[in-house]
Amino acid sequence: MHPIQCKCGAIRGQLEGTGTHSRIICYCTDCRAFARFLDKASDVLDKQGGTEILQVAQSRLRFLQGEDRLAAIRLSDKGMIRWYASCCGTPIGNTLANPKISFIGLVHTCLNRVRMNEDFGSDIAVVNADTALGEPKPKQPGLLGVVARFMWIVVTSLVGGGYRKSPLFDTSGSPRVSSKILPDDEVMRLKSAV
Ligand SMILES: [Zn+2]
Ligand SMILES: [Zn+2]
Repeated sequence: MHPIQCKCGAIRGQLEGTGTHSRIICYCTDCRAFARFLDKASDVLDKQGGTEILQVAQSRLRFLQGEDRLAAIRLSDKGMIRWYASCCGTPIGNTLANPKISFIGLVHTCLNRVRMNEDFGSDIAVVNADTALGEPKPKQPGLLGVVARFMWIVVTSLVGGGYRKSPLFDTSGSPRVSSKILPDDEVMRLKSAV
């Protein structure tokens, strides 16, 4: 069990059980825009604009309090749902809008820094290195493993019905929180900010 909480502590929860996970640093401009939207770039992003993420099955996620503080945005009408804590602006994680593809990429800011290696191992893959800020670009180890584990999480959640236990979607498969879609000009500004 790994604790989850927003910075102010209003939202608390945990990751339960065991299962496949991936530690990733994502250097895509969308993840960067999300951190900037919340005005949390200095907490979230590394020196080259990367966001550390833990990919797990949504069914392992359980909220103990403050679920009503969850809010979400999308950078476009087809973009990922990016969940955050409305109380203090802590990024929580990213999901697809399709409840049957039941993974979440939890942003490190809601996880327990001290226990990361112990609970999830020290291997961290790098994705979207070509859009990292500055030079040289980070090396991109571990990509194939990330893809394989992602497929495994999604397929086992689908076949085993685990996707129905996600705390983020209701029984009809709709997200529990309606997400605001950011206007294009704001997304452009967030992506290009240095
Ligand atoms: Zn909070
Ligand atoms: Zn990303």
